[in-house]
Amino acid sequence: MILCMSSSSHPSSSVAPSARIVSFEEARHLVEQHAVSVCPGEVETVDLLAGLARVLAERIVADRDFPPFDRATRDGYAVRAADLAEVPARLEVVGEVKAGDWPEPGVCSVGRGQAVGIMTGAPLPAGSDAVVMVEDTSVAECSHPNVAKNATLGWGTLTEKFVEIQRGVSGGENFVPRGAEARAGQLLLDRGRRLDHAGIAIAASVGKSRVQVFRKPRVAVLSTGDEVVEIGATPGPAQIRNSNSYSLAAQVQNAGGEAVRLGIAPDERGQLRALIEEGLDCDLLLLTGGVSMGKYDLVEQVLGELKAEFYFTGAEIQPGRPVVFGSCGAGALARADSEVAAGTRPRAPAPHRKYFFGLPGNPVSTMVTFELFAQPMIEALAGMTRQRLIFLRARLKSEIRTKTGLKRFLPAVLLGEFENAEVELARWQGSGDIAALARANCYVVVPPDRERIEAGEWVSLLMR
Ligand code: AMP
Ligand code: MG
Repeated sequence: MILCMSSSSHPSSSVAPSARIVSFEEARHLVEQHAVSVCPGEVETVDLLAGLARVLAERIVADRDFPPFDRATRDGYAVRAADLAEVPARLEVVGEVKAGDWPEPGVCSVGRGQAVGIMTGAPLPAGSDAVVMVEDTSVAECSHPNVAKNATLGWGTLTEKFVEIQRGVSGGENFVPRGAEARAGQLLLDRGRRLDHAGIAIAASVGKSRVQVFRKPRVAVLSTGDEVVEIGATPGPAQIRNSNSYSLAAQVQNAGGEAVRLGIAPDERGQLRALIEEGLDCDLLLLTGGVSMGKYDLVEQVLGELKAEFYFTGAEIQPGRPVVFGSCGAGALARADSEVAAGTRPRAPAPHRKYFFGLPGNPVSTMVTFELFAQPMIEALAGMTRQRLIFLRARLKSEIRTKTGLKRFLPAVLLGEFENAEVELARWQGSGDIAALARANCYVVVPPDRERIEAGEWVSLLMR
């Protein structure tokens, strides 16, 4: 139907919010300010590896000193540094400690003029205060036939051996003193930290086979648009498949949330409202499409009917200018409550303010605005401590020309190798060009006052 409109589908701007277009920085700060007010969900305990990419709900502390003993960081000889004031020096080898051995003081100690063979990871014997690398030694004298074989490296046998040391060491060299990394009881990982492989290593090193993490926030994803069809359908000539629900679900998952895809709302007020209300049962609602200036862009109007509060209705960025951020209070959830009472709907979480983002429908705009604004809110709902948005810098390979007035996040490719990185804009046809974004690995950030950036200039980047 192109010309025919029923009265119920007739768009009206009676409850549309008054426009509040803010700078990129203000928009980001507004989201961050609201994000600090949200609470993460309940705590659950999972097996350590299932905790990967989850957010810690407990503090992980050192169960003993790290390292638990003075730990050699080289293969060589434990010595008294003072014995090597003059080199070459000849020391008597009185023992050997390999990783896992415990050098009992008195049984295996280093006295003046003595050395003990030591392997990486082994405890330093009493009396020693440094380790000489085996590469700086040679076997001075030994009766055992194996010595010849090892002589060039300075390894001999355990008995009746002297080692010659070519280079001196300072006290404290080539070992990590007990407790230098952490003292018993010291905080290693705080609550709110997302577990990566290093975090998993820390938990493992203190013996935690299970960890407490926050439940993932449930994030509703609602696409809108009469032209949008499900991905299994064969699109008509003017229809497009619903890629945004999937890119958003993937981004939600990457950010630490659990996506709840609510399908596609048509550009019709009643159905859109019903789906928005369903989405408000989740911890956060993400809408895509329907937030621009078009006659059938109804998202803000319907949210307005639900007494939403809007913190911004646009940001001075491109792509993604029409992005909307707001929340609905308990009033908007009243219908849900009455249905709970009537037993037609399962109990929703306690009615408090629910945040929503209206992301523009153009797929690249959807992805960029998610990253800039929705992600920090999901991270906060997931219990994560605030993550700052960090821009990197790289040299521009080819000149950029744009219009002034908006901060631009342009899909780009970071090229080169090692320290010689250069960045170049991806060829793209604008905010609908998913293929260009898939080829890109970052965005070049162009300040609103720049019309032209020369090749060779340093530019800011946001990795994606
Ligand atoms: P809108 O923001 O609703 O004006 O939509 C802007 C552009 O994005 C239009 O070309 C839409 O067809 C497209 N679009 C909207 N929603 C989706 C979606 N879920 N998946 C892919 N493209 C979409
Ligand atoms: Mg639309």
